[in-house]
Amino acid sequence: MAEHSNGGRTALVIGGGLAGMLAVTALTGHVDTVTVVERDRYPHGRAFRKGVPQARHLHILLSGGRHALEELLPGTVAALTEAGARNLYLPRDLLTRTPAGWQRRFDERRHPTLSVTRPVLDAVVRERALRAAAGSPTRVEVLEATEVIGLTGNADRVTGVRIRARDGAAGARAERELPAGLVVDASGRGSRTPQWYAALGRPAPEEETVDSGLAYATRMHRPEDPDAAPDVGVNVPGRPGCPRGAAYVPVEDGNWLLTLSGVRGHHPPTDPAGFTAFTATVGDPYVHELLARAEPLTPVHGFRDTCNRRRRFERPGALPEGLLVLGDAGCTFNPVYGQGMSVAALGALAVRGTPAARGGPRPGVAAEAQRAVARAADTAWLAAVGADRPYADGDGARAGLGERLGTWYLDRLTVRAAIDPVVGAAFRDVVCLTAPPARLVTPRVLLRTVLLPRRPALPAPPAVVEPL
Ligand SMILES: Cc1cc2nc3c(=O)[nH]c(=O)nc-3n(C[C@H](O)[C@H](O)[C@H](O)COP(=O)(O)OP(=O)(O)OC[C@H]3O[C@@H](n4cnc5c(N)ncnc54)[C@H](O)[C@@H]3O)c2cc1C
Repeated sequence: MAEHSNGGRTALVIGGGLAGMLAVTALTGHVDTVTVVERDRYPHGRAFRKGVPQARHLHILLSGGRHALEELLPGTVAALTEAGARNLYLPRDLLTRTPAGWQRRFDERRHPTLSVTRPVLDAVVRERALRAAAGSPTRVEVLEATEVIGLTGNADRVTGVRIRARDGAAGARAERELPAGLVVDASGRGSRTPQWYAALGRPAPEEETVDSGLAYATRMHRPEDPDAAPDVGVNVPGRPGCPRGAAYVPVEDGNWLLTLSGVRGHHPPTDPAGFTAFTATVGDPYVHELLARAEPLTPVHGFRDTCNRRRRFERPGALPEGLLVLGDAGCTFNPVYGQGMSVAALGALAVRGTPAARGGPRPGVAAEAQRAVARAADTAWLAAVGADRPYADGDGARAGLGERLGTWYLDRLTVRAAIDPVVGAAFRDVVCLTAPPARLVTPRVLLRTVLLPRRPALPAPPAVVEPL
């Protein structure tokens, strides 16, 4: 990492959300100072804030992300559980309606996921990341209510950022520059780095998008009789014949989040009556029945920008020295696959293993870290765009022969995974981001997927857990 003029090794993180705090963790102990610039002022307690609008919606942390989070910040899973996060093992604790019927509940225990609201998750991670840094030689400063409005430097090297305070007296709100040896963009899906490139005299990075046009609508509920409510989540994803879905999961404080989703022409309504009526039109009536015995606690919140978008900062020449892009700022996913937070954690873990985190002025260290971040996103990207391509229009809809073959195989595999423990385990390893896609084409999985006849899954939500 380039040395700052004061002789120290300095890093600056744009955005103090999940990826930003995990970037702090990846750099802790390796650099002298990290400055986090966060547009919002953090709320007191574990409350919703404006800078993370998606936080109103259901968020599941997959086992791949959970392992990465725990490796970065040991003890965080226990702290989240203490804060009320629910541990849901897949497939045992998430009743899932696949296109072929209900998935069998194998007692597999390979994939523990966490179900918790984002305000709680973000607050716990932030507290622990800052506490870990406080016990290290790295000094961390967080500038709240301060916005990054541009990058400084030139086409070859980023040397810092331009910032502006968002509140305070007019003088305090004047624009100023903050120099840094390494700038990490963790500003989320609204990142302006591609636009800021123009001011540096660089072309924007290449961008790939596949947009299924999915919209979300979410409302928090509480079962009228908690003892009568299932102790597990319910997932009825949309499918080609019925592209409307519902996911109803327990979170902290005995509450349940219900998120409805639908592609173009099937967007879930955000008025209460329409929202409830929509639950009767998804692929199975079970969620609708459960809702009749639950009380709504919040208004319905909608969300529409669910495009899969990947900016190719890792490609040769796409990144100036001194810049790294992490989390949604580099790659966003259709949220229905529950991958974004896990990819942010896997990316931060990958950064921690590179020379960029360990400092050192060698040219190319940020580019090397960016390639590691990109590799950490590959499996999630392939899974999301493969599944979404049939719904996308325009350029994003054109798939090559390889991808079409992949989609055919994956369709068949998904059906098999619902009833077959061997295929199911491989499927979950990949979608939970603990194994690469090659796991889906091992001889055993391939033979069971292609040669065994298609069979229906279960006709109703299974009450019984099946031992392996
Ligand atoms: C509806 C929905 C549901 C989702 N469900 C899941 C799920 O189930 N599981 C899952 O793993 N992922 C899910 N995701 C994805 C997940 O929300 C993101 O992947 C995750 O929040 C990425 O973290 P981040 O830190 O990159 O961005 P964010 O969490 O969005 O944080 C960005 C931060 O940067 C700050 N910021 C922005 N611009 C500036 C600036 N110019 N200057 C200073 N600060 C700035 C913001 O205030 C914010 O604090 C979902 C996404 C959506 C949209």
